[in-house]
Amino acid sequence: MIDIKDARECCGCGACVQRCPKQCISFNEDSEGFRYPEVDPTRCIHCDLCERVCPVINVPPARDIKRVYAAVNPDADVRRESSSGGVFGAIARGVLERGGVVFGARFDENWEVCHDSAETPDALEAFRSSKYMQSRMGDCYARAEGFLKQGREVLFTGTPCQIAGLRGFLRKDYPGLTAVDVICHGVPSARVWRLYLRQLLEQGLAGGNAADITAINFRAKPHGWLQYCMRIDTRQGSLCVPRAENPYMKVFLHDVSLRPICYVCPFKGGCSGSAFTLADFWGIQHVDPAMHDDLGTSMIIAHDAEAAAAAAGGLTLKEESADAVARYNGSYFRAATPNGNRRLFFSRLNKSSDVAALMRRCASPTRLQRAMNLVYRKLHSK
Ligand SMILES: Cc1cc2nc3c(=O)[nH]c(=O)nc-3n(C[C@H](O)[C@H](O)[C@H](O)COP(=O)(O)OP(=O)(O)OC[C@H]3O[C@@H](n4cnc5c(N)ncnc54)[C@H](O)[C@@H]3O)c2cc1C
Ligand code: SF4
Ligand code: SF4
Ligand code: SF4
Repeated sequence: MIDIKDARECCGCGACVQRCPKQCISFNEDSEGFRYPEVDPTRCIHCDLCERVCPVINVPPARDIKRVYAAVNPDADVRRESSSGGVFGAIARGVLERGGVVFGARFDENWEVCHDSAETPDALEAFRSSKYMQSRMGDCYARAEGFLKQGREVLFTGTPCQIAGLRGFLRKDYPGLTAVDVICHGVPSARVWRLYLRQLLEQGLAGGNAADITAINFRAKPHGWLQYCMRIDTRQGSLCVPRAENPYMKVFLHDVSLRPICYVCPFKGGCSGSAFTLADFWGIQHVDPAMHDDLGTSMIIAHDAEAAAAAAGGLTLKEESADAVARYNGSYFRAATPNGNRRLFFSRLNKSSDVAALMRRCASPTRLQRAMNLVYRKLHSK
């Protein structure tokens, strides 16, 4: 049975929790706010199913990159509301039009993030754009399995570990399934976000009332895609802060607030079992300026070239050299570099009366990170 001895042994996908036939695995937040499974030994029947579905124990094999595309959704409004080129929106729309179901991450009633399914264009909108915290999987793997068994087409999107968790949970291929992941830098816990949002509310955001928040976008583009901002819309007005000045984004981007396994992520280099991977096409302005207008360009990394080609209908698409992945999007291959301030950050987080100040204090790249980035850039520059 699952017994987590080291936090780096669990990505929090919840496949074990959903697969346990005795439902004797609870899934609780630790002191950092990340969820881990805990087995009730008095109810466990030692069937070992939890271990057999766990993607960290059974990491899917790495796969070659078959093709790399730069892609944009021709609908500028969709692209404006998406993180990069709005590719997810176009692919998902096609699945709905064929009567399929789409799984993705949306905000819940507390402005935290959970996975859910959508069968209508309105429900799909909630999945649009990246939410930079770990999404709760709930019973989505089991629901996806139910749809697949009925013969429905399913598009399942998530981080590489969530896709590996889905593949582990299903334990067989279904012709109706298209599993798509995103390049993943790592995830902060919902608690980090909860405490930050609580402080903003205490300082007067939305008149102090979370119910007056109408939308949150971590990737708002008022000054373009490259200079994205975090925007919180409320009935009283909007708060829009560039990522370089936003304390929540700073601890995220400087690898302070990530889940422990993200620093040794085993799902890099295509080890998720996805058909293809979506990402920002950072560097497109140098690689292919004709595909760059600063409204956002996506990168599609195809492991299954046929599935990617079938899904890409309706997109403006251009094949690019696979070298661009290593040169501009190193997170596809390498895990986040540990930040020496992580321990300080999490040791103070729960008792801090000024979480934003704690974030500012801890959010600077360490010497090790600067050196690693320099070496990596040198290796991958022409
Ligand atoms: C936590 C996280 C880290 C990322 N790190 C990188 C990175 O380092 N480099 C890079 O190039 N791209 C990264 N991305 C991917 C990138 O931000 C875009 O999601 C991707 O380019 C798709 O954008 P889009 O415009 O096609 O569609 P969008 O409309 O932006 O699509 C969003 C998609 O992401 C899914 N999603 C949103 N939030 C979450 C979440 N919390 N957990 C799981 N799935 C989620 C939605 O379900 C949907 O499928 C990351 C995404 C996330 C969620
Ligand atoms: S061994 Fe079987 S019963 Fe025990 S926790 Fe794992 S899945 Fe559940
Ligand atoms: S199945 Fe997922 S949640 Fe369960 S132990 Fe493995 S990684 Fe953790
Ligand atoms: S970095 Fe790896 S382990 Fe962490 S959330 Fe992303 S895919 Fe999962």
